[in-house]
Amino acid sequence: MLASAIAAERGAGVLLLERNSVLGKKLRITGKGRCNLTNSSPVSDVLDNITTGGRFLQSAFHGFPPYETMAFFEQLGVPLKTERGSRVFPQSDNANDIAEALRRYMEKTGVELMRGRARKLTVANGGISGVISSGTEINCKSVILATGGISYPATGSSGDGHKMACELGHSVTPLRPSLVPLAAEPLVTAPLPVTVRPSRGMPPRSRVAPSETLMVAPLSASGLKLSTA
Ligand SMILES: Cc1cc2nc3c(=O)[nH]c(=O)nc-3n(C[C@H](O)[C@H](O)[C@H](O)COP(=O)(O)OP(=O)(O)OC[C@H]3O[C@@H](n4cnc5c(N)ncnc54)[C@H](O)[C@@H]3O)c2cc1C
Repeated sequence: MLASAIAAERGAGVLLLERNSVLGKKLRITGKGRCNLTNSSPVSDVLDNITTGGRFLQSAFHGFPPYETMAFFEQLGVPLKTERGSRVFPQSDNANDIAEALRRYMEKTGVELMRGRARKLTVANGGISGVISSGTEINCKSVILATGGISYPATGSSGDGHKMACELGHSVTPLRPSLVPLAAEPLVTAPLPVTVRPSRGMPPRSRVAPSETLMVAPLSASGLKLSTA
């Protein structure tokens, strides 16, 4: 959504092809429905807390740092607030406000929206020539493939983009979850919340601040930043 609006703002004729009837279905459930939009720490701190792939993300974070992300969304009419751990949320605690701001931005910049599932990218003379959706080809010279990861496929991101990229000869590394639920056996019955002392039994490269708290519920554990797990 953001890429389409920025490309349109810069003068490109843009058509966004979305398989769902609702835009930003995953975005609307992020941060338990509140959308943890960014982290207001300096870029160097943010990068220090990314244990794998931080180098890859360096140019993106320097090009569009957290304070600019915050200013950008506030300009789009979404007031923000910063909570514990420098986490940034919309003041409304409603992730829909972020998705709607992006939708309005797309509308304002003239992005055309089409409902459909992209199946294949076509190539002519060594460049992109179109996208096949529902049996018809949409002609274009460039494509931004932004089909998401493969978590929560019910939100629409089920790996089509990886498949299309592979078909064009790109290599795709094996896909793995980065955030996973933890199951305890036997179930933890201690009073809540449980405070974890990072020095005991944590993986050697873990960066868990001494003040961090592990919240244990009957079927879940949350709140603890196990950044190298
Ligand atoms: C439960 C949950 C909570 C999260 N909470 C946070 C959080 O608080 N903060 C945070 O920063 N990140 C959070 N994330 C991660 C965040 O949601 C993703 O990083 C983000 O949505 C990725 O955006 P994207 O545009 O790349 O992909 P997506 O949001 O997945 O969007 C891809 C879009 O492409 C569409 N699409 C896919 N294939 C096709 C096709 N073939 N044809 C047409 N359309 C297609 C999909 O329908 C979808 O709308 C959370 C993720 C989950 C699952």
